[in-house]
Amino acid sequence: MTGPVVRPALDSIPTYVPGRPAASAAQAYKLSSNENPYPPLPGVFEAAVEAAAAMNRYPDLGCADLLDGLSRRFGVPVDHLAVGTGSVAVLYHLLQALVSAGDEVVYAWRSFEAYPIAVVAAGGRPVQVPLDADARHDLDAMADAITDRTKAVIVCTPNNPTGPAVRGDELAAFIERVPSHVLVVIDEAYREFVRDEKTVDGVSLYRGRENVCVLRTFSKAYGLAGFRVGFAIAPPAIAAAIRKVALPFGVSHVAQRAALASLEVEDALLERVEQLVAQRLLVLSGLREGGWEVPDSEANFVWLPLGDRAVDFAAAAEKAGIMVRPFAGDGVRITIGEPEANDILLRVAAEFRST
Ligand SMILES: *Cc1c(COP(=O)(O)O)cnc(C)c1O
Repeated sequence: MTGPVVRPALDSIPTYVPGRPAASAAQAYKLSSNENPYPPLPGVFEAAVEAAAAMNRYPDLGCADLLDGLSRRFGVPVDHLAVGTGSVAVLYHLLQALVSAGDEVVYAWRSFEAYPIAVVAAGGRPVQVPLDADARHDLDAMADAITDRTKAVIVCTPNNPTGPAVRGDELAAFIERVPSHVLVVIDEAYREFVRDEKTVDGVSLYRGRENVCVLRTFSKAYGLAGFRVGFAIAPPAIAAAIRKVALPFGVSHVAQRAALASLEVEDALLERVEQLVAQRLLVLSGLREGGWEVPDSEANFVWLPLGDRAVDFAAAAEKAGIMVRPFAGDGVRITIGEPEANDILLRVAAEFRST
């Protein structure tokens, strides 16, 4: 007797590996999930606590207040926005709306580990284009990889886990090369950490184009990873399609309120981002002075291309009190955290090089 049979394509879905937590806060710093190390700001925390009192009610299905806030913040019409439980969920909805069986989705590799999972889950075929020698997107090769079956191209900038951001001129030229029936998805989960003036805000490229969409999240710079809120800024037909397939009532009332409150205290939040950016510069220069070859990072993490020694490095880091994210056989991604945690990283890295 056989039981129900799931889609064979699921066999090819890699497992999402979450960054390991520290066994206890006293023991270790968690630098494995690119979270914001700062506790919630008072206004945000209070908004969430107050919202929790309404837990017996369904949330606002349309996220109207949050959409209004986002519309003002980004200067885009409400019908160009779609909200989901994290920008990963928004990506799932987007692909569900675009992809029919066997359609292709092009993205760089290595990049965000959710991409192959989301593409296969939607019934699509992942087309992975290797990063170049500097761990950057090879946009020419990505454009060359587009076929009649391609529905979307994902550009992760800054790229998780390697760090570099795509330059504005190369991204604009790339978009010109992409046929109009292919959606360019610019995943800007780390946009707030970008300081390189040669980059461009994806929102400026979405304006006036029918095939460019931007994904943003409250999980990283805004410090709401646990509440699951992300959004798309997209041409209205795309935004409507995302809303159509989205899980009803996915984004909780608490999450909607906290996200809205975060927009209201954005200046204070971005102050913290500034401190993390300053720490990133210290970590990058510290590593490079120690002889490491580290790709540029415009995000809140750095990448050590350790190859076969990635897992060993993670073990050494854990011993010293920091949890990092190894990608076996490839490299290690380390989130920029508290200054003390970053100091431990530099120490571990120096010791590791000398062994
Ligand atoms: C963290 C991250 C996201 C956002 O995840 P959420 O689902 O919003 O928490 C999206 N894209 C990339 C590349 C990320 O690293």
